[in-house]
Amino acid sequence: MRIFHTVSGLRDALTVHRRGGLRIGFVPTMGNLHDGHIALVKQARETCDIVVCSIFVNALQFGLNEDWDKYPRTYETDCGKLRDAGCDYLFHPEDREMYPNGLDTQSRVICPTMTDVLCGASRPGHFEGVTTVVTKLFNIVQPDEAIFGIKDYQQLAVIRRMVEDLCMPVEITAAEIHREPDGLAMSSRNSYITAEERPKVVVLKQSLEWVAEQIKAGQRNFSELETAGKRRITEAGFKTDYLTVSNSKTLNPAAEDDKEITILGAMYTGGARLIDNLSIKLK
Ligand code: AMP
Repeated sequence: MRIFHTVSGLRDALTVHRRGGLRIGFVPTMGNLHDGHIALVKQARETCDIVVCSIFVNALQFGLNEDWDKYPRTYETDCGKLRDAGCDYLFHPEDREMYPNGLDTQSRVICPTMTDVLCGASRPGHFEGVTTVVTKLFNIVQPDEAIFGIKDYQQLAVIRRMVEDLCMPVEITAAEIHREPDGLAMSSRNSYITAEERPKVVVLKQSLEWVAEQIKAGQRNFSELETAGKRRITEAGFKTDYLTVSNSKTLNPAAEDDKEITILGAMYTGGARLIDNLSIKLK
């Protein structure tokens, strides 16, 4: 695996492959890699000739009081995992390489749809940071395909929309959610969960599943289900950020006759904010 810290270095290396007609796959990450990230890399390995991964903890997508400074950075271990997974190129830029003119005056990409609800409501500016950095990374790597996890359902939806709206020549592929044996969705932020909280945090997934079962059984009073789902989380001792029954495509509140529904949830532990989601198709 070749490692680049500069835009020009990576670009030069990839130009050769692009000119040679090879298919370039790209997996953007913030590092502290777990099996979920590695599954994305392996998925890219299957469909692409060249696999590029990036590790960049993007300050632009963190709020002022969020965890940018304490976000777990495990570069050496990550490199080993990427090598084992068959990654060809790692892009690991410094902040000043990505934002040479500083964050405040950085040109931004704004996606006005789907970005101020759910995670966007509690993390103002978050998705603007995501769409901006993903656009920059796409321009640097110029991949044929980029792989994103369904774990971050709203992020995936926003990026798909951005790519469509801005005619970006990249195919977006979704990867399934990787989970711990008890069902907790893997996340770099799971390291913030305390030993005491750990057996209980699966309540987030269980609440989404409970809501899904009720809908499959014919229940259509979604706001009642949302309230009941949130109550389960509260009863387990956690604070809910949101639990919504949404239209899978638009992320608007689901209508009674919607056939494709996604239940999304976010909750706070003492030190972490955890998210999860579950999609169902009705007949
Ligand atoms: P992050 O490093 O958290 O920004 O995530 C980088 C990519 O990995 C994103 O596309 C995430 O959706 C994806 N990802 C994170 N956690 C998981 C997981 N548990 N299963 C599948 N993909 C994931």
